[in-house]
This record gives sequence, C-alpha cells and structure tokens, in this order.
Amino acid sequence: MKFYSTNNKEHWSDLKSAVLKGLAPDKGLYMPESIPVLPQSFWDWLPGKSMGEIGFEVLKHFFCPDIPEDKFKAMVEDAFNFPVPVVEVKKGVYSLELFHGPTLAFKDVGARFLARVMAYFADFGGRPINVLAATSGDTGSAVANGFLGVKNVYVHVLYPSGLVSEIQEKQFTTLGQNVTAYEVAGVFDDCQRMVKQAFMDPKMSTEHVLTSANSINLARFLPQSVYYFHALAQMPKEDWGKLVICVPSGNFGDITAGLIAWKMGMPVKRFIAAVNANKVFPEFLQSGKYNPQPSIATIANAMDVGDPSNFARVFELFNGSVEEMKKLISSRSYSDEQIGATMKKVSAETGYTCDPHGAVGYAALEDELKGDEIGIFLETAHPAKFKATVEKYIGKEVEIPARLQKFMDGEKKSIAIKADFNLLQVK
Ligand SMILES: *Cc1c(COP(=O)(O)O)cnc(C)c1O
Repeated sequence: MKFYSTNNKEHWSDLKSAVLKGLAPDKGLYMPESIPVLPQSFWDWLPGKSMGEIGFEVLKHFFCPDIPEDKFKAMVEDAFNFPVPVVEVKKGVYSLELFHGPTLAFKDVGARFLARVMAYFADFGGRPINVLAATSGDTGSAVANGFLGVKNVYVHVLYPSGLVSEIQEKQFTTLGQNVTAYEVAGVFDDCQRMVKQAFMDPKMSTEHVLTSANSINLARFLPQSVYYFHALAQMPKEDWGKLVICVPSGNFGDITAGLIAWKMGMPVKRFIAAVNANKVFPEFLQSGKYNPQPSIATIANAMDVGDPSNFARVFELFNGSVEEMKKLISSRSYSDEQIGATMKKVSAETGYTCDPHGAVGYAALEDELKGDEIGIFLETAHPAKFKATVEKYIGKEVEIPARLQKFMDGEKKSIAIKADFNLLQVK
C-alpha cells in the first residue's frame, strides 16, 4: 500500500520510507491511500478472537505484501503478546484494559508493533537509525522498552523536566543500552517541537538517519485499531450497535486508530473524545475553528497536549467536514478536580480503580450515556503508574505490580538540556 501526506495528496510514499521517515518531508502526516471495508465474513469470524489473530487479519491490508505475510504474522503475534480484556465496571459501563503490557500503558501496543516493523526495515549493515521520541509520560517508556537492545537503532527520549511521574520517568531513564533520556527544561510541546525541528533541519536530517516513534508514525497508530476490534470480539454481537467508545485523548493517536476501525466498518454507535483541561478539540467541535494552545499541566499528564499532532488525521478522515465529525464524535473536558472526584466515586461505588486518564473517560460516559447505550472507556494506564495521585483520591493503597517495581529499583540516568534540538547526541 502507498501512503500520502495530509499536507499534500500528491506526495506519495511506500510503506518502508513512510515508517522510517515518520513525518512526511512537507511536515504532513502519512495516511493510507485507501482504507478497506472489511467483509461480513470478518464480522462473523470476529467473536472470541485474540489480539494476534485480529491483528493479522486487520493490519495485513496495510502492511502486506510489503512485509511477507508469514513474517508479518509472526511479528504481530510477538507484538501483541499480552491480554487486553474488557472488564465490566458497572451495568452498561465497561473498561477496555490496555495496561497489561510491559510498561503498563496502552502505548505498549503501538510501540512494540512499530519496533518490530522498523527492525524489519532497518538496514543493519548501514547507518545507525535514531528514533526521536518526545513524551508527555508514557510514550517514552513504551518506545524505549519496545526498542531496547535492537541493534543499530538508538532511541532518544525527550521529556519535560518535572512534569512526568517518578514511575514514568524511571521506565525510560533506567534502561541504558541504546536508550538515552533527555530531561528538557520546558513543557511537552517544547519536546515535540524539538523533534519536528530536528527532522526539518537540513544538516541534522542529511547527516543522520532520524525517525520518529510518536503517534505521528503510521506504524504506531495503525496497530492500535486492533484493540477496538478486540473489544467487540468480547461483547455480545447484539450489543455492538449500542456501543459508545470513549477515548481519553491527548495527541489523538488513539482515537484516530478507533476512527480507522470505524472506517473499516466497525458497527459501533459513536465515539467520545474525553480530554483534560487541554480542550482544543471540544472547542473545535463547537466553533469549527482549530485554535492550538500552550499545554496545561494536569493530573492526567499523558494527555497534556495543546496542539494534538493527530488532529490533521482526524480532519482528513472526515474530509475536513466538522458537521460529519460531529455526527460521530462528541468531546468533553474535565478539570483535575472532576478527574479526582471521578476516581473517588468509581472506587466507592464499584470497587474499580481508575487511573487519572481512564477516569476522564469514565466521567464522560457518566455524563453522556443515554437510553440503551453501552459505554466502553479505554483504561489507558495501570493506576499504579500514578500511585500517589490515585491514592490521594480513593483513600486506599494501590498495589504496584512486580514488573513496575523492577523499574523503580533501577537508577535514573538522564541528560539535562535546554529546549534546543542541536543538543541531541544523535549517532
Ligand atoms: C498517551 C496517553 C493518552 C493519550 O493518547 P493519545 O493517543 O495521545 O490521544 C491517554 N492516556 C495515557 C495513559 C497515555 O499514555
């Protein structure tokens, strides 16, 4: 399959260079030339199927035969090697638990898949590949762990100093090997800007092989569509048309993947993009004007994004029509106070523990579900990743899973830098 740039439909790229470049040369985002509508036989087959089985059937349309089917099948099985269960929280409200991977957040899904696709395309005898990843918290750990130890690939994680939780920070500053962490004096948007500048810089981008692992990379967001199908596979077929899928959103990669699933024919009723105090998207749906803002720090910090980079893809999926978008997607914003109150309420009423991001999703379902609608919110991270915050609100201890404790015991190593892309030590 070929991929075009959202800035210029005349710019085409093949899979390999779209994956290795990440961002198109004109700063646009790559989109698949077509999105196949899956046949009825797929939907009849779907119930009860695993992430690996679904992943192959869905993603082969985008990645094969550029990657041969047998190799691709093995890559998918290897990437999706952890469960993604749908758990009932209370009647009519379900949590799609995306945190059972190695770094306990949904980004493991995309990052593990991307690392395998990139490793497949990497020319190991050739120049080293530098993966630049700006993170507001969870991307860094998922990408660093996904690529850890991959030969001739160097991961550079840029994160805003003091604005990620200790547990998040430990997951990408304690790894060593081919992973370097930069503690940037600034906010997430500064980190993201530095990555974009490095790509656009003629000297940097010709002297080094640079690529991105943010959700701007098509091989990171496309695999995320798989768990939407997998959610349906776990729900009774007669309920599919009643489903309202609520996605806690920051950079909008996750919801873009859901919209791809919808374009492929996923028969759900509608989507909600739930956001924290960073409310560019709900304001856009209201006014029709996209007005990016500096990001605001919140307790759901992986969603602290003032200028969501996947907005261009969402826009593209609706051919730029706000009216069409509003038929399928609604959006709501929640303050830290509301997020905290939601964590407390869910815990008290149901015994379920939400992390701050999942709580944004739960809150939006509480406010929006009507009639016979059934809600599924994406529980994007394990509550233990935000232990102190969650405990403060629910008044109970949150247990740390063993695989998280392992990171906590490691020693932090990072390079403190100003927000200047020239300071990155690329190979
Ligand atoms: C990244 C992240 C989000 C936001 O996902 P986007 O794809 O950027 O919209 C939500 N929750 C958690 C825990 C995250 O790490």
